[in-house]
Amino acid sequence: MKRRIRYGMVGGGPGSFIGGVHRRAARLDGEIELVCGAFDIDPVKSKGMAKELYLPEERCYLNYEEMFEKESKLPLGERMDFVSICTPNHLHYRIAMAAMEHGFNVLCEKPMTLTIEDAEGLAEMVKKTGAVFCLNHNYTAYPVVRAARDMVKAGQLGDIRRVMVEYPQGWLADVVTSDNMQGSWRTNPKTTGVSCCMGDIGSHAENLSEFITGLKITEICAGIKNFVPGRSGLDDDGDVLLRFNNGAEGVLSASQIAVGEENALRIRIYGSKAAIEWRQENPETLIMKFNNGPQQIFRRNWAGFAAKWSRIPAGHPEGFFEALANIYTDFAHAIDAKLEGKPYQGEFPTVWDGVRGVKFIHKVVASSKEGKWLKIEE
Ligand code: NAD
Repeated sequence: MKRRIRYGMVGGGPGSFIGGVHRRAARLDGEIELVCGAFDIDPVKSKGMAKELYLPEERCYLNYEEMFEKESKLPLGERMDFVSICTPNHLHYRIAMAAMEHGFNVLCEKPMTLTIEDAEGLAEMVKKTGAVFCLNHNYTAYPVVRAARDMVKAGQLGDIRRVMVEYPQGWLADVVTSDNMQGSWRTNPKTTGVSCCMGDIGSHAENLSEFITGLKITEICAGIKNFVPGRSGLDDDGDVLLRFNNGAEGVLSASQIAVGEENALRIRIYGSKAAIEWRQENPETLIMKFNNGPQQIFRRNWAGFAAKWSRIPAGHPEGFFEALANIYTDFAHAIDAKLEGKPYQGEFPTVWDGVRGVKFIHKVVASSKEGKWLKIEE
């Protein structure tokens, strides 16, 4: 790369969660630089954040509209190359659309949009503008998860027959109070969309199962439920039966009322020859299982592919930040290649993953209401 790739952030203001994680992850490899932002719905708080980040006052904008307008008028050598969208769900579509209209690339948090039409609209815009677009399904970027994908691809599991994926959390087991910033918008249909739990974490499980298996979910049958009052009936727990395009079957469970659970994302994939198991809370270990032999334990950095996405030798733990840094660095390399007019095959999730995620969420809600299997189109 001839220079650092520059970005602006929308969201990630004081007291927020994922914006700060993004900023740290983006810095990790030294190839990406935060140059501007509209960090908070409240411009005063946004200014405070910009000060904390040592950004010049004139690069902290009142809102994202002003940011895109003014950044697009700066000389090429100064303006941001992409925007990182770290706001609640209902804003992703309009911010991403406005960014692409002004010629910027986009890294967007999940779920991509509230409606399928909006998701398809963003995909159309990506085609029209040639923007580099990344959807942040960060769990796909753990080195060991990428190695698992390669093992499946190389046929080490045989034909994939069953996927069992679960994401239990306990943090929404009680009524959300108004001072719970993250909980408040997630339990409001206007800001979170048609689903709370399945949209928030079920979509990660859906994406992860497609990423590792290389298969597509073609049909689902769901039962989702609201346990805790004050959520307009939005789900805080549920199960989805899955059918994949090779005939494999599966089950996806997600919960935010599973008391005592933190981020216990776990996936098990069973093939005709072998099975694999990965847990997010122990992300450097992949277990391979057989009927006719002992289990094998793979660790990050064993000779092979996973080394490409690691920074330090195994045994010195890497985790959530490093996985997100893999997304950022790969994405920055894709932008650099675009600037240089060179081809580049990134491994980060794209706008098409975003479209599939939003379709999945809507079908899950509809299937649960109608009590029947529903197809998910490509
Ligand atoms: P949060 O409530 O902690 O933070 C949201 C931030 O957006 C706040 O600073 C708020 O002021 C700001 N904001 C709201 N409206 C704005 C506007 N118009 N302009 C500028 N800023 C605005 O939320 P969070 O938990 O950080 O989640 C943000 C997004 O990230 C959501 O889409 C969520 O689904 C996603 N997320 C993803 C992961 C992951 O692992 N990939 C984890 C957590 C959250």
